[in-house]
Amino acid sequence: MIHPFTQEHEELRNVIRQFLQKEIVPHVERWEAEQKVPREILRKMGSLGYFGLNIAEEYGGSGDNPLAEAVLHEEIGRINASGFANTVGVHVGIAMRPVYKFGTEEQKRRYVVPGVQGEKIGALAITEPGAGSDVASIRTRAVRDGDHYILSGNKIFITNGVYADFYVVAARTRPEGGHKGLSLFIVDRDTPGFQIQRKLEKVGLHSSDTAELFFDDCRIPASQRLGEENQGFYLIMQNFQWERLMIALQTLGTAQAVLDMAVEYAKTRQQFGGPLTQFQVIRHRLVDMAVEVAKARHLTYHALDLFARGIDCVTETSMAKLVATEAAYLVADMAVQIHGGYGYMQEYPVQRAWRDMRVTRIYAGTNEIMKEIIAKRMELLP
Ligand SMILES: Cc1cc2nc3c(=O)[nH]c(=O)nc-3n(C[C@H](O)[C@H](O)[C@H](O)COP(=O)(O)OP(=O)(O)OC[C@H]3O[C@@H](n4cnc5c(N)ncnc54)[C@H](O)[C@@H]3O)c2cc1C
Repeated sequence: MIHPFTQEHEELRNVIRQFLQKEIVPHVERWEAEQKVPREILRKMGSLGYFGLNIAEEYGGSGDNPLAEAVLHEEIGRINASGFANTVGVHVGIAMRPVYKFGTEEQKRRYVVPGVQGEKIGALAITEPGAGSDVASIRTRAVRDGDHYILSGNKIFITNGVYADFYVVAARTRPEGGHKGLSLFIVDRDTPGFQIQRKLEKVGLHSSDTAELFFDDCRIPASQRLGEENQGFYLIMQNFQWERLMIALQTLGTAQAVLDMAVEYAKTRQQFGGPLTQFQVIRHRLVDMAVEVAKARHLTYHALDLFARGIDCVTETSMAKLVATEAAYLVADMAVQIHGGYGYMQEYPVQRAWRDMRVTRIYAGTNEIMKEIIAKRMELLP
């Protein structure tokens, strides 16, 4: 199997693992109940350098190193705290990332430097009530007015949407032109006309806050535009590669954690005079789960290796997202079954994985869209 990590990455993995066990795991249930990840812990992670693993030193990071950030995402997945994983992943991997990659020097100083320190937290706002998979049909408008733009419209399902400090927002700068008429903007939380319309209640990922946003003639300086006008769609698509890899890594970590829980439970739970593993059907189910995790690991590490070496990996990234998220949900579902009635009780963490993994097949591009991307790459479209 391709193992893209060096000895240094494995040492980092150990440090992160210890940090997560000490500082995160004991608080997960409380954060889920409070429906919030406390800001202090995000600041602490920032101060320890965990948000700058793939950011140049001049912006407070430890250097451009996607494999180091990959270790962070996989290990966060491994503790089965996907609400927390979502909060961190969206900030580091999908909101701060485009500012770092496509932003001006001033934008990087204003958002990336405090973002790396955990002083400012970001969100990425693309989805709208009428535009989900079909990103090109976004209707939020940004109309140029001198050296400003006026934003109007709304966004839905935005992770970190309730508590973020800055929002990277996709808006239409050309009425016609579909995907060729979109641009990205950075909107500060306190901008007049910008409203966090409502906090959304979800089936899982309870500690991750999700919001509907509203832009009511929200006036922002033209210097807040990210990248060239009408190039937003291409920037979003570029950023999707890392986002999808990140989701694959997180869900791979969770699938492995859930498999371990199920093995442990099946070995210790006694029924009919022996452990559950005395039954061939249970043993085979555990083997099926191990095969799913192995498939996810192979594809994810392969895509990550290509990505880290700068090789085109749209197909592999889409496959990794598809396979890892399907595997994680299947493994979580089987783990609940192996736990019997206990698996359905709140006090057993397998139920949380089962609720949390369901959405990974939907966000960051649905798995049907992953298949469409792969089909296009296979030149199957008429
Ligand atoms: C918890 C959560 C967090 C999220 N966080 C964010 C965020 O931070 N920022 C953000 O911008 N968005 C976010 N999203 C939105 C997410 O990316 C969208 O929900 C997703 O892209 C799907 O869009 P939709 O929900 O409108 O579904 P639709 O696009 O309406 O799709 C409905 C169904 O039709 C299928 N479908 C659609 N088009 C096709 C096609 N061409 N071929 C085959 N099948 C198709 C889909 O696969 C799906 O099964 C989040 C969503 C959730 C649930």
